[in-house]
Amino acid sequence: MTTYSAPVEEMMFLYNHLKDNKDYNEIQKFKEINSDLVKDILDQAAKINQEIVHPLAKVGDETPCVYENGVVRSPPGYKQAYQQFIKDGWTSLSCDPKYGGQGMPKTVSTFFEEMLSSSSLSFKLYSELSIGAYHCILHHADTKIKNKFLPKIVEGKWSGTMCLTESQCGTDLGLIKTKAEKQEDGSFLLTGQKIFITSGDHDLTENIIHLVLAKIPGAPPGTKGISLFLVPKFNVNDDGNIGTRNGVKTLSIESKMGIKGSPTCVLNFDNAKGYLIGKENKGLSSMFTMMNLERIIVGIQGLGIAETAYQNSLAYAKERKQGKANNTNTEKADEIIKHADIRRSLLSMKSIIEGERSLSFWLSQQIDVSLNHSDENIRKNANDLVSLMTPVVKSFFTDMGSEITNEAIQVFGGYGYTKDQGIEQLFRDNRITPIYEGTNSVQAIDLVFRKVLKEKILNNFLKLIQKEISEHNNNQQLKKFSNIINDKIDIINKFSNWLEKRNKEKRDDVSASCNDFLKILGYLSLAYSWFKTTKVSLSLKDQNKNFYNEKINTANYYFDKILPRINAHYESATSGSDIIMNAKFG
Ligand SMILES: Cc1cc2nc3c(=O)[nH]c(=O)nc-3n(C[C@H](O)[C@H](O)[C@H](O)COP(=O)(O)OP(=O)(O)OC[C@H]3O[C@@H](n4cnc5c(N)ncnc54)[C@H](O)[C@@H]3O)c2cc1C
Repeated sequence: MTTYSAPVEEMMFLYNHLKDNKDYNEIQKFKEINSDLVKDILDQAAKINQEIVHPLAKVGDETPCVYENGVVRSPPGYKQAYQQFIKDGWTSLSCDPKYGGQGMPKTVSTFFEEMLSSSSLSFKLYSELSIGAYHCILHHADTKIKNKFLPKIVEGKWSGTMCLTESQCGTDLGLIKTKAEKQEDGSFLLTGQKIFITSGDHDLTENIIHLVLAKIPGAPPGTKGISLFLVPKFNVNDDGNIGTRNGVKTLSIESKMGIKGSPTCVLNFDNAKGYLIGKENKGLSSMFTMMNLERIIVGIQGLGIAETAYQNSLAYAKERKQGKANNTNTEKADEIIKHADIRRSLLSMKSIIEGERSLSFWLSQQIDVSLNHSDENIRKNANDLVSLMTPVVKSFFTDMGSEITNEAIQVFGGYGYTKDQGIEQLFRDNRITPIYEGTNSVQAIDLVFRKVLKEKILNNFLKLIQKEISEHNNNQQLKKFSNIINDKIDIINKFSNWLEKRNKEKRDDVSASCNDFLKILGYLSLAYSWFKTTKVSLSLKDQNKNFYNEKINTANYYFDKILPRINAHYESATSGSDIIMNAKFG
């Protein structure tokens, strides 16, 4: 079994030294949240994750969810853990106090999301979709629905789902067939089948609130005719109590490669009573409130799982003795951490993970600003940055999760491939993250075609990086980092110009290079984060030499050994798409 120790010191370093966003610091309602409070929350979060949630990872993998007689049962121990989880108020951490939440900013709740992902992704998923449903209802439902459903969701007594996928419709939501017919009382009856629904049914909560995409007869074709509905598993009476069973039935659960403790359900809707959320035919844009938040959280899942993979690889590499690095004693082998290739592997993991955590902390500040700042223009600017970075964090972090969990198996050798150590489970559990919430390729397409070429929101981000660098022009210790970042910005500018041009002349060239562009932006964003970390570490070095020197060394590794990947992506992408599109495939 793996071990996990929550990186609270790392998180507090970010909270104390990289919360330098003026707009964030102006948000009135977060002014009373101080460092002591955050440390206290993170210590408590570490405790429940290390002691209660993490042991469930192996249990869920070995004793997956069961579907029997129309009922889904969670793995042993999940129910008791969930009761503790909601008793301690973890489902309410970031929710509005108006509905019983604790009103914590994203800057704090994201750390908790990471810890949960590191501990057990399967267990996390039971409450994760509830938070997404909470936001969607909060932003788009009428007051009556909010008052009726939100307090129970916030309390964790009811959970949420997101029902988009159907057998003929995965990426292409325009193909949805589920039908919603309007009733005289203003409610709707939904009929159709949804597949792959995470936490679609289980025994942890009293009720399950499904958010379902469906089409009203006569609606425009494609995505323009999709509406969003709230469909409870059990109808809810006007007094808020649970009533009769609604027409939603679980037909089966999937047998999967990973996250086996999380039920992935086929749900049948047979005249199930539902309530319209938002306007008719505008369901997709309402659902995007949920999907965009979820996409960032899925990125955090990749980061969290990578952290567990790294921690265990590091511990193993310090103990396992094989071969000789420096010693010449033929009787004695060295710890594998002394071998250059293992060190390279560990440093690659570490430099990517810490860069990602720092980037996600920066992004959390932008999300908090976009939702809470009093100035509309400032909210809009922050929202553009969030919009640009959403596909990057979703795809880059989860792809790196695959890379890092794969590297971890390699560090463990044969013991990584066999089951005892729990390392191969990390790879399997992570493997869904590049697929769900919109595949990573589709995220890359969204980034390039919509955000870069159509909305042109890349430049603001590049300017932000350049501003940060130029403010430290006189700092000789940062010169190397500034120069490298400036070179990489040149590349990304050349790449975007190339995309603009090719988009007018040969769209396939652009389509074939979206993944490369997303990777480049991902690596550059981490470089921006490492630049700020290095700046702070240089200034604080004398206070805690080990911690800050290690940061500076890791930054150097990232700039020397990881960032050159940008050049390879650029070269490959701009060679065009002829060879791809002309291939005959036999
Ligand atoms: C464990 C699990 C949990 C899930 N949870 C949920 C959930 O809670 N709610 C929910 O609604 N769904 C859920 N899903 C469904 C998931 O979101 C979809 O599987 C995913 O969006 C991809 O759809 P698809 O599987 O139909 O693949 P397809 O859409 O058929 O895609 C197949 C391949 O084609 C590529 N592709 C598709 N379109 C394009 C394009 N235009 N350009 C380039 N490439 C393209 C994709 O990137 C992919 O590589 C879950 C799935 C799994 C396996």
